[in-house]
Amino acid sequence: MTGAGEVQTTRGAVDAGELGTTLIHEHLFVQHPELQLNFPHPEWDEAAAVERAVDGLRRLWDLGVRTVVDLTVLGLGRDVARVARVAERSAVRIVVSTGYYTADVLPAYFHTHGPGLLVDGPDPLTEFFVRDLTEGVAGTGIRAGMLKVVTDRPGLTADVQRVLTAAAEAHLHTGVPITTHTHAASRNGLDQLRFLTGRGVAPERVIVGHSGDSEDLDYLRALMDTGATIGMDRFGMEHVLPDERRVAVVLDLLRLGYADRMVLSHDAAFFSQVTPPSWRAVHAPNWHMENIPRRIVPRLVAGGATEADLHQLLVANPARLLAPAKES
Ligand SMILES: [Zn+2]
Repeated sequence: MTGAGEVQTTRGAVDAGELGTTLIHEHLFVQHPELQLNFPHPEWDEAAAVERAVDGLRRLWDLGVRTVVDLTVLGLGRDVARVARVAERSAVRIVVSTGYYTADVLPAYFHTHGPGLLVDGPDPLTEFFVRDLTEGVAGTGIRAGMLKVVTDRPGLTADVQRVLTAAAEAHLHTGVPITTHTHAASRNGLDQLRFLTGRGVAPERVIVGHSGDSEDLDYLRALMDTGATIGMDRFGMEHVLPDERRVAVVLDLLRLGYADRMVLSHDAAFFSQVTPPSWRAVHAPNWHMENIPRRIVPRLVAGGATEADLHQLLVANPARLLAPAKES
């Protein structure tokens, strides 16, 4: 069992109070190993990608970032051994995660394995998440420090419910927080929260991710008024919503007193097969992990955010959320 306040990183457990400035929703490498094996992406070069990540993390350290949470779970090509090779050359701490990224269906394996299925037994998803959180990921000995689940346009499909249920069980067993991917335009963070709280998860232990894609203050306040934290976690994704408007929403919510209910991040990656570097360079030039320290913090300050607000958003809230807490 995890000790109170200890956060798992690639270099072992650290006290949540030592995490410092934290980017809580990022990706090192988003990949598709099966596609890569059969239809290699022309821009993927593993050695070059590792160097790019090491260089990127060095620049982040110089900008004051101390911890990055890599939310690359299964479905996004997770390779924690590769992440560890980057982390061992970086001063910035990396927290890895477990969970399953699917907007609709799980792979066929999960349709034959589980309670009442052809290969009858307990749900392998729960066993897998708990093992990642308590023993370590794929033989690396590195324990996951966060759970990640997804609902997108299709909503709470049967398989999405199965992932959320397994994540809730793993959360109750370990106290590790749950972060989510939502489709903010359909306001489905509320359905997600209802589903998770219905399975015993306290809203205070959930980050409703991608909420920053929305400018609907009523929706965002409804999420936070449950006690949940919202992820204003796609700065630089200006093809979805320009940063200027993302900043305006954060400033509005700060004025309304929600500093302790928001976290800031980019959902960026050093390499993503989904939106490769050549595409990002043209269509989303600010979508990288230096955007918050370089462009967004100065804009927040210009709009009235205080030093205390910034500390709350970038240091105190991530530390509070990442520190495992058992439900009483
Ligand atoms: Zn993400």
